Amino acid sequence: MLLVYSPIIETVNDHLYFSPFMTAQKDIYSSPYYKEPGPALDKESPFESMMERFRFAARVLELDEGMFQYLSNPVKSVIVSIPIIMDNGQIRVFEGIRVVHDNVLGPSKGGLRFTPNVTMEEVKALAAWMTWKCAVVNVPFGGAKGAIRCNPKELSIRELEQLTRRYTAEMIEVIGPDRDIPAPDMNTNEQVMAWIMDTYSMHSRRTENAVVTGKPVILGGSKGRHEATGRGVVTVTLATLNKLGIMPNKCRVVIQGFGNVGSVTARLLYEQGVKIIGISDVTGGYYHPEGIDIDDALQYIRDNGGTLENYDKAQVITNDELLLLECDVLIPAALQDQISRNNASKVKCKAIVEGANGPITASADDILDKMDILVIPDILANAGGVTVSYFEWVQDRHGYFWTEDRVNRRLNRMMRDAFHQLYDVKEKYDITLRQAAYVYAIRKVSETLRIRGIYA
Ligand code: NAD
Repeated sequence: MLLVYSPIIETVNDHLYFSPFMTAQKDIYSSPYYKEPGPALDKESPFESMMERFRFAARVLELDEGMFQYLSNPVKSVIVSIPIIMDNGQIRVFEGIRVVHDNVLGPSKGGLRFTPNVTMEEVKALAAWMTWKCAVVNVPFGGAKGAIRCNPKELSIRELEQLTRRYTAEMIEVIGPDRDIPAPDMNTNEQVMAWIMDTYSMHSRRTENAVVTGKPVILGGSKGRHEATGRGVVTVTLATLNKLGIMPNKCRVVIQGFGNVGSVTARLLYEQGVKIIGISDVTGGYYHPEGIDIDDALQYIRDNGGTLENYDKAQVITNDELLLLECDVLIPAALQDQISRNNASKVKCKAIVEGANGPITASADDILDKMDILVIPDILANAGGVTVSYFEWVQDRHGYFWTEDRVNRRLNRMMRDAFHQLYDVKEKYDITLRQAAYVYAIRKVSETLRIRGIYA
């Protein structure tokens, strides 16, 4: 019997007993684990969207049930209480989460986010996404994700520092340069990573800069990290244009979100001669059929508190309208679930490059596929960040730091290689690029697991 044992620090997984996984397949399609989600399951939720794609790839690979179960469940899900003394002298207790989905390929890797409404389901889905993302771009990491349930806008810098340091202390046995390596995510930044690195170093009595990535360069961060995700999005966008036979200077792009990913993507594409006809942020969408001057828009946000509000060199539209603009490539780089069964049939582009995590729901995927729209999935398209995080970890461990040019060249090469390797899988199985990404990643992790075996 294969025993899949999920170590439980807090409770999420049960002990699971399954049939031998090295023996012939038997009746996997009748297994409850392979069933399509019925009406009771929400195909629009991020976790179900991810599971839907995972189930599909498992079927293509004829993954046996034990392996399927192993990869369906995080190896570790931790919930901690984080008491801090607020500036008004009162104690307040926050909830901290860390989910390690998988550590078969190497130490697990994934962001830490500060958000008020985060759920364990969401963190589990994001941790699994990281497993597949690392596998897709061939970095030797498993996947993880962490969160603190808080509204950072309501907290002072001192309170944020206390929160981060206590979270790190509570997670001291979970994280580590050879175990699990956090990085910035929603509402966390270089400063938060510096606090984690310092707290971890104080506990281990030596400087351990490889415990987090996305640190300030002065603490062992990598050059090029800030732009890495956008740069990776641009590399795969240009590879996509090449496949579609569109010259960059004849291409019209719409980008949703003008933060780290969206603005870097916009600037680098603009530098390549691509016409950016639509941009947006939380304040709305901005459209110009002849193309927006991205340098001007970037200067505008620098001068106007970081937003595009009242930007008057383009027509103001809503974010919903922005997604439906006619263009060659649409790049959602803001939030999850932006293209769903409600609007997918109305998008008018040739390709969608997912800068954000999970901007297209599973049901929208089916619609877009029927419309022959090429979707470059998040686990490939926005993997530039984790690729340079890997470079940062390598540099920290060597104590030898690369030039920005070297970082960018290696990033471009890894992203291009990953794009072409997934494109080959797509053509081989005649499936979508997203399905190909999951097939590639799940095959890689499951093969590694088979060779390593299950420790008992
Ligand atoms: P960010 O906070 O820097 O920027 C987010 C942008 O989205 C901002 O311009 C914001 O105004 C805009 N936005 C917020 N709500 C919106 C709405 N309702 N409609 C339109 N725009 C809205 O975040 P980011 O780092 O650029 O991340 C964006 C996405 O990319 C997220 O899904 C994130 O998980 C994903 N991602 C980021 C990285 C990275 O390295 N930053 C890596 C991988 C994936």
